[in-house]
Amino acid sequence: MKTILKLENVVKKFSGLVAVEDLTIEMAERSIHALIGPNGSGKTTTINLITGVLPLTSGVIRFNDTVISGMPTYKIAQKGIGRTFQNLKLFNSMTVIENLMVGGHQMTKMGMYKFLFDCHTAKREEKILKERAREVLTFIGIDKWRNEKVSNLPYGRQKMTELGRALMMKPKLLLLDEPAGGLNPSERVEFVNILLKTYDLGIDLLLIEHNMDVVMNVSNKITVLNFGKKIAEGSPEEIQKDNEVIKAYLGE
Ligand code: ADP
Repeated sequence: MKTILKLENVVKKFSGLVAVEDLTIEMAERSIHALIGPNGSGKTTTINLITGVLPLTSGVIRFNDTVISGMPTYKIAQKGIGRTFQNLKLFNSMTVIENLMVGGHQMTKMGMYKFLFDCHTAKREEKILKERAREVLTFIGIDKWRNEKVSNLPYGRQKMTELGRALMMKPKLLLLDEPAGGLNPSERVEFVNILLKTYDLGIDLLLIEHNMDVVMNVSNKITVLNFGKKIAEGSPEEIQKDNEVIKAYLGE
């Protein structure tokens, strides 16, 4: 088994508060790995540490054997780690396709100066981005809404748009913060299907998710956090039977 992502003794403190405590996680290549735990257990902080949004207090994070902790966020993204956010970070007054094109800008590695002042190259860049965006939108099934303003779309399609934006960069690993959150049951089924299709493309998934049906149905492995500490890890069957996990969720 090859490891795609490894957190080694990761600690994150916010002044006095220990949000993540001595956390070690190994995520296998070609897997869907879930990170679960009650509110405030350190899940989003962990994703922010992996993506470089927050600096670690101590510990090391490796992606495919390369140490990524300490790198700036854009470099980590260029290495092949994409993400979506719990509270969508879309440009609401822009259209679906424009949101994807903004997300893919880094893909073409063209500097902003050149983009603004070199008309010929900018046009070429726009064409590449548009083609890639159409490909992604078709893949996730929302191409017919490409020219709609994001603010006019139902929440489920906004979430799809965000997934699409993350796919523009062709990540090898995608971190998803509550992908099923806020979706109605039919949107949830649709979204899970797209996630499985995304996995089949060769993209490994690390997800934070509260919906236990989703977690238990899609994950190969689950890590459970409580108060910043790992309290259990294993297959969905193992986690469902784990007494520590049951206690953490029932608040005993
Ligand atoms: P979860 O995603 O599991 O709900 P979080 O990672 O958001 O948990 O939070 C873990 C703990 O760290 C919580 O106690 C939270 O209040 C705290 N925390 C998160 N971000 C910050 C921050 N920027 N500054 C101070 N405390 C924070």
